[in-house]
Amino acid sequence: MPKLPGWTLEALHADHAQALRESSVLYDSQTDHQRLRVFENPTFGRILTLDDVVQVTEGDNFIYHEMLTHVPILAHGSAARVLIIGGGDGGMAREVLKHRTVSHVTMVEIDAGVVEFSKEYLPDISAGAFDDPRLDLVIADGAEFIRSTDGGFDVIIVDSTDPVGPGEVLFTDTFYGHAQRALAPGGILVTQNGVPFLQGQELTNTMRAFKALFADWTCYLATVPTYAGGPMAFGWGSDGGARQVPLETLEARFSAAGIETGYYTPAVHQAAFALPGYVARLMP
Ligand code: SAM
Repeated sequence: MPKLPGWTLEALHADHAQALRESSVLYDSQTDHQRLRVFENPTFGRILTLDDVVQVTEGDNFIYHEMLTHVPILAHGSAARVLIIGGGDGGMAREVLKHRTVSHVTMVEIDAGVVEFSKEYLPDISAGAFDDPRLDLVIADGAEFIRSTDGGFDVIIVDSTDPVGPGEVLFTDTFYGHAQRALAPGGILVTQNGVPFLQGQELTNTMRAFKALFADWTCYLATVPTYAGGPMAFGWGSDGGARQVPLETLEARFSAAGIETGYYTPAVHQAAFALPGYVARLMP
């Protein structure tokens, strides 16, 4: 990958890269698990990369975090216990904890460095989530945790890095099987599943596993500008009928939740499950 002084070149894909201007570099260090950097960009604000891959930006994280939380939680309707795997920046916990119906959030993050770092350099991402008494932060490998948990979760959100490095174990059939068993009746598993235009095989692999595990399996889409390459896919697996909840019900639940959003609406929720041909053709 060539170097571009004053820019971060993201090296996630073989034939496609994105360049983000660094107006200043605030942090650059190696944790026990991955290389952790944060820099300022004039358009996206502070940007966190792990092993040179964009994880979260102040500017567009709301899209990703809203769609991986409000979609399953409002579809479920009475989610009380939520599990987040990954999510070290705290953005996922921030959105989950906006739901007053949620009584307990377990967040399993492998790298304490990401949490501590995000509290200091990206406080607006977690926005106080780490201080919420409902949050139980566990520093562990999500694959280990899911194997030994007593389960009973209404929603499980996999907010991991891509399937390289420590995140790889979170894209395996074994992990998905344990996650399915950790769901309470009617529970929903959702996953960060990459940008299908450039990571189509990842989505197909996850969907193949979900097809074997769940009565209702599919993915839904949202476009996050710094997850380059087109819409991002979120895996959806459930044995209940949550995906069939009518628009009027979603609207009533969203109104009752009283949550201000920048991307999520009940109509966007439903539309997100409409798959274009090139994504539908990735379904097993
Ligand atoms: N939004 C990002 C994306 O879509 O790629 C993910 C952001 S979040 C920072 C990803 C988190 O997953 C990181 O904090 C990383 O440390 C964590 N992670 C990676 N592998 C993990 C594992 N096996 N168990 C728990 N957390 C893991």
